[in-house]
Amino acid sequence: MSHEGIRFVNAEEQARITAAERPLSREAMTPAKVRVLITEGKGLEIDWLDGHRSAWDFHWLRNACPCATCIEERTNEGRKPGDGRAKKADLLPMYAPPARPASAHAVGRYAIQLNWLDGHSSGIYSWEYLRRHCICPECSLAATEVTGAPN
Ligand SMILES: [Zn+2]
Ligand SMILES: [Zn+2]
Repeated sequence: MSHEGIRFVNAEEQARITAAERPLSREAMTPAKVRVLITEGKGLEIDWLDGHRSAWDFHWLRNACPCATCIEERTNEGRKPGDGRAKKADLLPMYAPPARPASAHAVGRYAIQLNWLDGHSSGIYSWEYLRRHCICPECSLAATEVTGAPN
């Protein structure tokens, strides 16, 4: 009997996989209303068809850019989507302008693209990605419980 193809994962890894692949209903990934508060400099707000509401500030969104370059950068630095760069104590603070998009537009029916003032615009934020990274207290708590990760 062959065991080829069977992969053993520890409980912690299994929990992480479960959290990432937690099935979401179609309604949970379909926005009823999308507000990009560019003039106010606030962020992105989405009311989902299932009645849930999510909001992210631009700082979080910039640091959660889902493009390949940013994902690689975050992975190398051990940052989660939305985590800012760690400030290096031995460096003089540099002026960093607050993250803000110049514009935003829908990409088909599945995503939104944010064109950041710093010139970066390759990140396409799919509704599914955003819903899976909802940072409201309820969803953050659920994610903490599933992964057991300290906050
Ligand atoms: Zn990016
Ligand atoms: Zn939420």
